[in-house]
Amino acid sequence: MNIHTKAVHAGDRKKAGPYIPVTTPIHTAASFFYESMEDLDRVFGQETPGYCYSRYDNPSNAALEELVASLENGHGALACSSGMEAIHMALLTALADRRKSVLAANAVYGATVSLLMKVLEPSGVDVRFVDVCDLDAFREAVAAHRPGCVILETISNPLLRVGQIDRIAEIARAAGAALVVDNTFATPLLLRPLELGAHFVVHSATKYLAGHGDVLGGLVVSDQEHYDALRTYSRAIGPVLGPFECYLAMRGIKTFALRVERQCANACRVASWLAAHPAVERVYFPGDPRHPDAEAVRRLLPQNLYGAMVSFELRGAGRDEIFRFMNALQLIVRATSLGDVHSMMLYPVMSSHREISPKHRERMGIRDNLVRLSVGIEAVDDLLADLEQALPRP
Ligand SMILES: *Cc1c(COP(=O)(O)O)cnc(C)c1O
Repeated sequence: MNIHTKAVHAGDRKKAGPYIPVTTPIHTAASFFYESMEDLDRVFGQETPGYCYSRYDNPSNAALEELVASLENGHGALACSSGMEAIHMALLTALADRRKSVLAANAVYGATVSLLMKVLEPSGVDVRFVDVCDLDAFREAVAAHRPGCVILETISNPLLRVGQIDRIAEIARAAGAALVVDNTFATPLLLRPLELGAHFVVHSATKYLAGHGDVLGGLVVSDQEHYDALRTYSRAIGPVLGPFECYLAMRGIKTFALRVERQCANACRVASWLAAHPAVERVYFPGDPRHPDAEAVRRLLPQNLYGAMVSFELRGAGRDEIFRFMNALQLIVRATSLGDVHSMMLYPVMSSHREISPKHRERMGIRDNLVRLSVGIEAVDDLLADLEQALPRP
């Protein structure tokens, strides 16, 4: 079934007695019981499907999980309290019966670096980083460190690199490592990592999936092999999303494919407009034919769907000039996060990459004149007009 159709149908309309609600209600009950103790016993024993306690499972969570598992073509999903919790649960499950060693892409979300360095490494997990867009370097790192798990993002932040996930999956699988892919930036409209050999896909649903800047949440989607372990861990840890947030996320997802299509189209226009502007030194956009991963983009992403993130450098700018430019924006929201219906701009040096030393940032290619734009669903001419009036005149 087409993803636009799944987005509005999957997970919903479960029979609830004599009637069928058209959308899934918010089930606030912490526990559930049945006509007989025998029935409850079978649910507790997981012999029959059902609900007994909301840390284990809840109909509002189950609906969202069924929906996202369907979008990603996975076996099952777990709705978590945040994107970070989803990444945490995927890594814990991936490492459960593997070598306690993670090989991460060197361009991952800042909080993912913190999770690896501040939480996992001190608890005995070996953590290494590698440029996953360099397949030879990746192959060597896998051979040298024999990781139990590899983690990367489909479109990296903020330089928007695109790795060859299918080839990476092949190398990881041959070495017995689990592959966790953060698909937040690409969304399942652009790419479905489980189809390319990943074992887990994670999302910050806070971004494109929910899409309205009003809910924090995350999802792990796994293959069949890891799903039982994922749920067992979840029952023990309790990382679950609340039913109100499940409802909001699900409501948002119904239009996600439509929104992302529009956002991608807007981003293409914005990227080429910026590239022609004299105040702009360089534009980072996966749809650019000179993009360093142009071959991976052509092979793995659908035509004209290159994501809706555009990063760019202002010619000769430092922090003061960037602040002046961003202060002048009237429509584009100066806030962290991305993927919302409204456009947002962020200054990585001040926010997402603040904790990283200037030298390390320079090595990562994140310069003091770089900003990251998340393009929304507005009329693109209004966005271009806002950028035009805010950009410095040469
Ligand atoms: C925002 C984000 C996260 C973390 O998600 P939260 O919902 O903020 O916890 C993880 N990965 C990527 C790529 C993100 O953009």
